Amino acid sequence: MTRRFNTRLIRFEAAPGDQHAPVSTPLYQTATFEQPGAEELGTYDYSRSGNPTRTVLEDLLADLEGGSRAFAFSSGMAAVNAVTRLVSAGEAIVAGDDLYGGSYRLLAGAAARQGIEVRWVDTTDPTVVAEALDDRVRLVLLETPSNPLLKVSDIELIGRLARSRGGLLAVDNSIMSPYLQKPLEIGADIVIESATKALSGHSDLTGGVVAVKDAELAERIYWTQNAEGTALGPFESWLLLRSVKTLAVRLDRQIASAHRIAEYLRGRDEVKTVYYPGFDDHPGAEQHRRQAGGGCVVMSFETQDERAGQRIVDATRIFTIAVSFGSVGSVVSLPCQISHAAIPPEVRRARALPEGLVRLSVGLEDVNDLIGDLDRAFELAYEGREVEAGTP
Ligand code: PLP
Repeated sequence: MTRRFNTRLIRFEAAPGDQHAPVSTPLYQTATFEQPGAEELGTYDYSRSGNPTRTVLEDLLADLEGGSRAFAFSSGMAAVNAVTRLVSAGEAIVAGDDLYGGSYRLLAGAAARQGIEVRWVDTTDPTVVAEALDDRVRLVLLETPSNPLLKVSDIELIGRLARSRGGLLAVDNSIMSPYLQKPLEIGADIVIESATKALSGHSDLTGGVVAVKDAELAERIYWTQNAEGTALGPFESWLLLRSVKTLAVRLDRQIASAHRIAEYLRGRDEVKTVYYPGFDDHPGAEQHRRQAGGGCVVMSFETQDERAGQRIVDATRIFTIAVSFGSVGSVVSLPCQISHAAIPPEVRRARALPEGLVRLSVGLEDVNDLIGDLDRAFELAYEGREVEAGTP
């Protein structure tokens, strides 16, 4: 009988080969493994190359993503970096123009220093992607929905376009997680997750995932994970295994609250635009519905008065001012000041990334308290000031 996603989150082989049959995966907190003999090697030799706790996690992640193999990294950026290693000097990457600031930094800095050309394009428009492709392009990297403007791109079509020119499509799925979107099943060659986000969900570890279907591609990713020493440690692997079990139940509740908060924000006069792919009139709503199983817990908004964003963020009390998203705790931030500060101001301007944009990630607190916190924050932010009339 095929098991559904929510069953597979809980019912996986927790401890293959363990004589005691524990129901929770043991933490193999060891760096090295005694070998049977000088010329006879065991299954594991050194934790950088492989660790039983990490193997259980990686097998589970491969299954959840619909891949053949998955690799757990020490951070989402280590995962993104491992994927860029598929591209050599003289070759090119086509990258979305609304990526996480750290991915921008990596591509603009490291890749460029390695002689890799990066072509930044609006991936919501497949014709623009097609025009950017040529035989030098080895990789297309996009986020859908993107961070922080929640733009939606067509995974299936862009995957086909990339492969038709000999490239690969990698989708950074950190905002969705495999519970809500499985890029490998709909046309991506590679999926990347920042496990720091919803997969772990408690803001207590940093981690990253790369999952693929193709066996040869898997070997290349494994080579980088082992050679560069960027694998997730045993303790974080164990913690992530524990946290991922509640992924679906956490996200169901968080998304229900996020919908309410997005509607609430849209109803406020001070708010100019709310970027949220769960809205029926979001420009990518139809595409998002086709390829994803729901909205998301992240949204961003612009106020009529750009400077009000900072005042609102500073006035919140339940939302924590912090980077990251997908956690059980709600967070609020000004992306241009923190998560996307690595993008130079002139590039942000050219990409029409509003300086006063506020990003929210909705957690598991009572949604009425969260709305009350925002109510209070708006009141304080506009105390004694005229509110410009906006379209509600
Ligand atoms: N990808 C996206 C979309 C992100 O938002 C982030 C971090 O915010 C990353 C990758 C990097 O992940 P990490 O912070 O785990 O290195």
